[in-house]
Amino acid sequence: MKKRIAVYPGSFDPITNGHLDIILRSLQIFDELIVAVAHNVAKKSLFSIEERLALIRETVTAYPQVRVDTFHGLLVDYVCERGACVVIRGLRAVSDFENEFQLAQMNHSMNPRFETLFMMTSVPYGYLSSSIIKEVASLGGNIEDFVPPGVRIALEKKFSDQQQD
Ligand code: ADP
Repeated sequence: MKKRIAVYPGSFDPITNGHLDIILRSLQIFDELIVAVAHNVAKKSLFSIEERLALIRETVTAYPQVRVDTFHGLLVDYVCERGACVVIRGLRAVSDFENEFQLAQMNHSMNPRFETLFMMTSVPYGYLSSSIIKEVASLGGNIEDFVPPGVRIALEKKFSDQQQD
């Protein structure tokens, strides 16, 4: 039988337990998941692409069905080249909806085979985003319940290095 493959694209700056929850739930539906970090020059990031890839790889090391990759350019092209044509996106508050709806429609009109599958956030992660985690960590708050252990260490190091600069 043909493998069911999906792509989970995003910035992952850095990966949080909210992202991890979506990854693990996707594995219940798909045989293989490609977590794809987008090169987005317009978005200022805290971690480099290489750092983000390394943090994701370390987080999903126990799941051989998850591949970690990066992509430039159009998501539709990247996804269909990998034989996937299904993209997973997470939805938190209503505020996520408008932008996601626009993206899904645009991608579908560029390639009618392209589908976007939305997963509702799990209750404990509804308020969790990479941005809020960075803000809390930059102010010295405790983030250990919200991110994988390696990410907590990386954030602490990033902000202590920045203070020394
Ligand atoms: P982007 O910059 O593309 O939105 P993110 O890394 O912020 O990338 O998010 C990637 C995807 O994961 C998006 O679909 C986002 O809605 C989803 N996501 C992020 N945090 C959560 C969460 N706590 N619960 C569910 N989905 C989430």
